[in-house]
Amino acid sequence: MRTIIEPFRIKSVEPIRMTTREERTTFLENAHYNLFALDSENVIIDLLTDSGTSSMSANQWASVMRGDESYAGSPSFDRFHKAVHHLMPFSHIIPTHQGRAAEKILFSIIGGPGKYILNNTHFDTTRANIEFTGAEAIDLVIPEGKIPDLEHPFKGNMDIARLEAFIKEKGAENIPLVMLTITNNSGGGQPVSMANIKDTKYICMKYDIPLFMDACRFAENAWFIKMREPEYANVSVEAIVQEIFSYADGCTMSAKKDALVNMGGWLAMNNPVWAEAARNLLILTEGFPTYGGLAGRDLEAIATGLEEVIDEDYLHYRISSTQYLARHLTEAGIPIVKPAGGHAVYIDARNMLSHITPLHYPGQALAVEMYLHAGIRACEIGTVMFGLQMDGTEKEAPMDLVRLAIPRRVYTQSHIDYVIEALTEINARKNELKGMKIVWQPKQLRHFSARFLPLNCECSQKENFIKAFQAETV
Ligand SMILES: *Cc1c(COP(=O)(O)O)cnc(C)c1O
Repeated sequence: MRTIIEPFRIKSVEPIRMTTREERTTFLENAHYNLFALDSENVIIDLLTDSGTSSMSANQWASVMRGDESYAGSPSFDRFHKAVHHLMPFSHIIPTHQGRAAEKILFSIIGGPGKYILNNTHFDTTRANIEFTGAEAIDLVIPEGKIPDLEHPFKGNMDIARLEAFIKEKGAENIPLVMLTITNNSGGGQPVSMANIKDTKYICMKYDIPLFMDACRFAENAWFIKMREPEYANVSVEAIVQEIFSYADGCTMSAKKDALVNMGGWLAMNNPVWAEAARNLLILTEGFPTYGGLAGRDLEAIATGLEEVIDEDYLHYRISSTQYLARHLTEAGIPIVKPAGGHAVYIDARNMLSHITPLHYPGQALAVEMYLHAGIRACEIGTVMFGLQMDGTEKEAPMDLVRLAIPRRVYTQSHIDYVIEALTEINARKNELKGMKIVWQPKQLRHFSARFLPLNCECSQKENFIKAFQAETV
């Protein structure tokens, strides 16, 4: 059979509330054109993120009932520990409430002024947590990874020559660790090859620097290795995952991605000194080391999710459905990052809306129009997210993308067909779209809370906005 079907049946449904363009115009004005500020009930198809939005399976819900909520020594921690350790055999596995909590703890221990943390591409919370300590976050992805329409099987790969040159220039003693983000979320959900993981490890060993994985989408990365690296074609995903982590000295993980749960994460490592410092910080902000910010039931759901996420029928469906969306957008003439990533399709908004300059946020303009036109919520990954510099100035990001992140096991093919139709219609009148400007922003992670106005907005709307904003801030 050539037709690829969702490898699950639906036992429980969530209704979607349909809205009109008129209603959505009001919702958007009230949200100051920031899609994070919308009520999710007013969104028809929510592609804002694949993080924490997975559907849990019947087995995971059954695990939830089994959760033991003892403060210390819960058997749910043992099941969690066993499931993680089976795939990622680190000596210390420390549960956290989500990925960024693991990052915060890790970089509090090893960061600080004068330090550099190297990565293929740092995710935004990773970068923010590093910079918060005064350290510098350096991105060293291969040059191909920055060319949106260039086909390359592993666009998330680390640039090994630049990695070594950077270590030589700044000194290994100033680089407490090197990270690899698998898959490379901020660079388009692109995988890292096993060969590149090994090469990165080799350089790290040469200079005695630990290698950590930002492991959020480890299973999707392993599937790409199986599909695209010929020597792994007949190796099971489980064995590929185990091999990946055999080259690492630790990892940070958001269970909201490839553990198929709605909340959770962990920090894992082999270094006992760092682990002890991490547990001490964990107790301050997350909780006792056998639950660390999670309920026993959450630990159980993660344990079951880790078994399900390496199921090859699941991964085949997962990656094929992302590729389906990518193929149809390409056929409609919409420029996307090629090839499609694992968890998302990234529209090249800078190219699609070439009449809007980067500092007028073409990605935000497109995301706003997708919501107005069809109630689809997507996420700008571009100058809004990365343009604000540490000194408060602004410069254009390397790319202006709009990410259509696909929640795991949530939408069916007809939902995706609806998205394709909406984007095809927007593309036909793309020259009418106007840029945006920011009228208020915080100092960090501005994309979550910045307030925008369209460049062509009516004067009365602008005045109302300023009045409302002043009333709120007094
Ligand atoms: C989501 C994500 C994180 C942060 O995890 P949270 O659970 O959202 O705190 C870190 N790195 C990458 C690559 C991610 O995708």
